[in-house]
This record gives sequence, structure tokens and C-alpha cells, in this order.
Amino acid sequence: MKKILVTGGAGFIGSNLCKRLIDEGEKVVCLDNLSSGKKTKLRSLLHEANFELVDHDICYPYHCDDIDQIYNLACPASPIFYQEHSIQTSKTSFLGSFHLLGLAKKTEAKILQASTSEVYGDPLVHPQPEQYYGNVNPIGPRSCYDEGKRLAESLFFDYHRQHNLQIKIARIFNTYGPGMDPNDGRVVSNFILQSIQGKPLTIYGDGQQTRSFCYVDDMVDALIRLMNSDDSITGPVNLGNPVEYSMLDLAKTIASSLNREVLFQFTKLPEDDPKQRQPDITYAKNVLKWEPQVNLQDGLKKTIRYFKNLS
Ligand code: UDP
Repeated sequence: MKKILVTGGAGFIGSNLCKRLIDEGEKVVCLDNLSSGKKTKLRSLLHEANFELVDHDICYPYHCDDIDQIYNLACPASPIFYQEHSIQTSKTSFLGSFHLLGLAKKTEAKILQASTSEVYGDPLVHPQPEQYYGNVNPIGPRSCYDEGKRLAESLFFDYHRQHNLQIKIARIFNTYGPGMDPNDGRVVSNFILQSIQGKPLTIYGDGQQTRSFCYVDDMVDALIRLMNSDDSITGPVNLGNPVEYSMLDLAKTIASSLNREVLFQFTKLPEDDPKQRQPDITYAKNVLKWEPQVNLQDGLKKTIRYFKNLS
């Protein structure tokens, strides 16, 4: 049995990862300051002997002795939330990574960083391969997240080069599924809730901007495969579903999954909102022998069921 630290374990992807690791018989210590994460997401784990939830902000050092693996998933990830808490977001990305890398160095644990497709900013290359350096506005409203995650990647590589740390960097593209926060303002949760409640779907801009949506179980599979991959694999590795949708098509797909007639309400496109986003996952397919298994229609059905049960 491995002892695994999951930071941000009360968040959307983190809580799904904690559940999978416990199912696989591992011992899990979840660190979360519960700023955007919720204890309720971990309800089914709180009484497990192998699971521990620690209320801790990774902007401050965390000490423990015997850790085999660290997944650093702690950071607000919803654009609305991280822009509201922009300084905290930069601090979490930099100071959090710095403290966890120090812990990995001391304990000789393998450490995986949840990076993001946002390191590509508003990409000018399509689809995005890992070699693309991106097109990021360094001073815009999204930069706390984009630049924070870029700096974290840079710090991870310096610890790898200078201290020989075993690092893994996952560039996570848009992910959805059970465990999403209904109020975090993401497009999938907004459209599903608005459809269930009979409200118009809020399309930002003309709805022609694109994203590629990965079901959370596929993402958790990929993260575990990356963590357990050969030491020579540091990444960065793009993880996501390469099937690309415009927001207008996503809205129509969600409406038809719910069998609803819906109205659209067009509003202003947020500043620096990327126009196109689609991962090139050739590298992940080669080194992890992984590709997404759940298509959008099937994933949406499970996600809709989850949101219906919440209300
Ligand atoms: N979006 C939208 N309506 C909403 C929420 C989001 O049209 O109610 C758009 C948003 O402008 C962006 C895309 O959907 O182009 C994905 O937004 P999200 O916040 O889910 O994640 P992002 O990919 O921007 O981090």
C-alpha cells in the first residue's frame, strides 16, 4: 500500500482521484483549505480508515515523513473563482508548489503537478501540442492562473534538474462530471443547471469559441497512469479529450440530452477568453497507453443525473 498526498483533494478532480485511490487500496492524506473545495464531496471517504482529511493551506509548509507520492491539485480552477481570488491563486500556484517540492525532496516522493491547458493562453496553434509555448497575456485577468501555472511548471523542472526530483506534469484540459460544483460558473455546470431549471442558457460572445471536454473518470485514469509511468517520463503531457465543440453545439447537445427546448441568452465574451482549445494527445497515447473512453453524450448523461440528485 502506498501513502499518497493529494492536495486539493476536496475539489472536483481531487475528490474523484481520492475515491479512486482508496478503491485501489492506497492510503490517502487529503490536504485542502476548503476555499473552493467542499468537505461534502468526500462524505463517502470520511469514515475510511485509510483516508485522512487535513484542513491546510499549501501556501504554508506541510510536514510529514513517509510519503510515496504527491498529487498537487490545489488551486482554484474556475475562471470566475480564480479571478475573484487572483492574488491567492498566484500564491497557491507558486508558494504551494514550492512547499510541496520541498516536501518531495525531503521524503523522496514522486510529485505530480496539475498544470493546465491555460499555459497555452489563447492559442495560435491548433490543436495544441506540448511543444507549443503558448500565447498568454501576462497582465490580464486570467494571468494569475495562466502565469501561476507556468511558473509552477518552471519550478518543477528546476527541482528536477537541480535536485533530481521525480516530477510529472499533467496539462489538464476542460474536464467535467459528477463532483463538479454547481456554482462555480463553468460552462458545463451552468448549461446543465440552466436547462434543468428551465432558464435560458447563457452563451458568452457568439458561442463559436471551442473547448474539448474530458469526462472525469478518464482524467483520473490518466493522472494515475502518469504518476505510475516510468521515471523518465516527466511530461508535460496534455491530458484531455480531443473532440472539440463550439459552446453553441455544447448547449444544443446538453438541451437534447435533457430533451428540453431551450432559449439562448447571449452576453459579452469575458476578457482574454480563449477562442479555440483542443489538446493534441499523441504523446499521452504513446507514453501512457491512454486515451479517453467516455464520449460527451454518455458523460453528460451521468453528469446530468448527478446534478438532478443534488437539487
Ligand atoms: N461560457 C459560456 N457560458 C457560460 C459559462 C462559460 O458561454 O455560462 C464559455 C466561456 O466564455 C468559455 C467556455 O464557455 O469560452 C468555457 O468556459 P469555462 O468557464 O467552463 O472554462 P474555461 O475553458 O474558460 O477555463
